[in-house]
Amino acid sequence: MTPQLSFYNTASRTQEPFTTLHPGVVNMYCCGPTVYHYAHIGNLRTFVFEDLLRRVLDYNGYAVKHIVNITDVGHLTSDADTGEDKMEKGAAREGKSVWEVAEFYTKAFMQDWERLNLKPPTRWTKATDHIPEQIALVETLEAKGYAYVIPEDGVYFDTAKFPRYADFAGLDIRGMQEGARIGVTEGKRNPTDFALWKISPSDAKRAMEWDSPWGRGFPGWHVECSAMAMKHLGPTLDIHCGGSDLIRVHHSNEIAQSEGATGVTFSRFWMHGGWLLEAPTADGNGGGKMSKSAGEFVTVDLLLKKNYGALDYRYFCLGAHYRSYLNFSWEALDTARDSLKSLRRKTDPLIGRASAIVSENALGWQRRFLEAVYDDLGFPQALAVLNQMLKDPDLLEGEKAALVRDFDRLLGLGLAEKTEREEKVLPGPLAALLEERKDARNNKDWKRSDEIRDLLKGKGFGVKDNPDGTTSWFPL
Ligand code: AMP
Ligand code: ZN
Repeated sequence: MTPQLSFYNTASRTQEPFTTLHPGVVNMYCCGPTVYHYAHIGNLRTFVFEDLLRRVLDYNGYAVKHIVNITDVGHLTSDADTGEDKMEKGAAREGKSVWEVAEFYTKAFMQDWERLNLKPPTRWTKATDHIPEQIALVETLEAKGYAYVIPEDGVYFDTAKFPRYADFAGLDIRGMQEGARIGVTEGKRNPTDFALWKISPSDAKRAMEWDSPWGRGFPGWHVECSAMAMKHLGPTLDIHCGGSDLIRVHHSNEIAQSEGATGVTFSRFWMHGGWLLEAPTADGNGGGKMSKSAGEFVTVDLLLKKNYGALDYRYFCLGAHYRSYLNFSWEALDTARDSLKSLRRKTDPLIGRASAIVSENALGWQRRFLEAVYDDLGFPQALAVLNQMLKDPDLLEGEKAALVRDFDRLLGLGLAEKTEREEKVLPGPLAALLEERKDARNNKDWKRSDEIRDLLKGKGFGVKDNPDGTTSWFPL
């Protein structure tokens, strides 16, 4: 019997058999990055989980419409619609315009995406390309009586008008009202109300602002996801994903404003990835959720600089269930790298030798693998099945090879093809070129340095000059 797909749904707090609104089609929206800095590997853990989900849906023959947004409009650093504008903060840090910052980090993000072997979404949607849709959504909410204006501040969503507001995240609204502190925006009717549109202060010009019926300003950051998801996928999605830090505020708000506007369920499944945690420093400080503002900020570039492959990190993520916390440490990443290496030693000789999967035994291994994956993405168990399968003396080599190829459609570890991506050592002549480039740079011979960079690019390797004067390379 074919195993059935079932996923944990944050909305119902139970694992449910997966069904779709329209037969054979999955409309899926994933909250994307805020492009004011590099993504850290915690952010990327969430995107790896979403990629595994995407692969499982593709494998099942669904036509998946997968949207990932790029938050390139400045929203404020706090969930309470106060604090600094993240994009402007990034621009000030780097002496660039907000638009340049957004473009630079969007490119960097997409490069990380490819390095981790994440499938391209059907469409990337930029918040700044959807300002009219966001304004239209706020107008609808205003017309339906869900919005109110705080003069010279903005348009707010009145969460008291949406009685289900607390249900999604199980919020204790009364407790929040009692605990409401000074410092929350003056004029807000309820502590959970949130900005739909922020009006620019009359005495300051913002780097990103647009005209609107309420005055020049910019959208509140929750609005973009509702507006873009509904524009591209319709009023009811099959799956909405994100990291679990988004549940309480961002996703509660997305539900309130989308369902307030349309009157129908916004998303049938909500799936959330667990946090990547960083270890406290030796003096006991830090630790907890990896974030851009605190503690060690590990990027894919840093992994490559330290001679890890991006897929070592992907393998590391596969070793934990997507909903559990995962502790990051370099030692744990070493273990993942060793395991992936040893796995490749077994799978590399099978490349190109696949036959069909026909024996009872092989079909049994396939069923066990899929049972694990279909049970709320049980990839740690699935990896164990793969390793056991490779040891089975009764399995013909051709079937083993075919199973590896089949499983890797879901794992995305590149086990079925030998790619340069996994080469950790630059081939000799290229290493010599990199050395020559170092000398050229020391001699300020930028022309030669650029020539060598282009030569390496032609051979499939990128180079990156780090602020500390070193140069790292990576497979393109
Ligand atoms: P951001 O760029 O901050 O908007 O976040 C992009 C995605 O990364 C969101 O889905 C977040 O929920 C997720 N995220 C942020 N921090 C972590 C973390 N430490 N572990 C896992 N996911 C995270
Ligand atoms: Zn979102």
